[in-house]
Amino acid sequence: MVAGDAGTSWAMALAVPARREVAVNAMDRPGDGPAPFESDICSRCAGCGPTCCELSPGQEELCFPVSEMERHRIVEQVGLSRGAFTPEPNSRAFLANLRHLFPREGQALELLFPDADRHLRLSVTPAGRCVFLRATGCRLPRPARPYYCRLFPFWVAGGRLTAFAAAGCQVHRQGRTVAGMLTLLGSTEARVRELHGRLRLAWGLPPREGMPFVTPSPARFGT
Ligand code: SF4
Ligand code: SF4
Repeated sequence: MVAGDAGTSWAMALAVPARREVAVNAMDRPGDGPAPFESDICSRCAGCGPTCCELSPGQEELCFPVSEMERHRIVEQVGLSRGAFTPEPNSRAFLANLRHLFPREGQALELLFPDADRHLRLSVTPAGRCVFLRATGCRLPRPARPYYCRLFPFWVAGGRLTAFAAAGCQVHRQGRTVAGMLTLLGSTEARVRELHGRLRLAWGLPPREGMPFVTPSPARFGT
């Protein structure tokens, strides 16, 4: 996804956090339980579209990677895999977008997603819609969705909670700030940070920037 260009491509393609949102430091709300991250807003969004589950045809190479662990979880839940995932070369454009997400970890990304290798992504229709997208939203139960889907529209950049520059996102529009978006979705900063750490691990990075590597890249495919 191109930063701020929410009208043409969506979160399925790797997005870039909005700089102005970095200044907003969302606070945890004591007493909150695990946040469901489910919202009527997202269901309505799916009905009228475009949603973060779509990308512009031709931008498939920019779709976020799905790790082997995430793929297994989806297959266990829905009992299918054929056609749901597509091997995608680690193109320079894909790597460049990953670098936007993890700007100080370029060297690690080159090792995790080497030039001659491939990764898995979600398959999309010719129109660019995720194969799991239905009129009322994602057909996958939330715990089975890839971490990137579960995080969107939030991200952690430079150690601070932020949000993607998705101008067409209704959560973004109505919540206006990261704190407002969290409230709208009934989530917390702690929950977002936990999910972000899990995504990093799934993609082969340590759970927090600066920590030592503990796993090989589970996002690699075909090696
Ligand atoms: S996160 Fe935003 S773009 Fe995605 S479904 Fe919800 S409202 Fe739509
Ligand atoms: S898996 Fe579900 S949440 Fe993720 S892009 Fe596809 S439809 Fe959207």
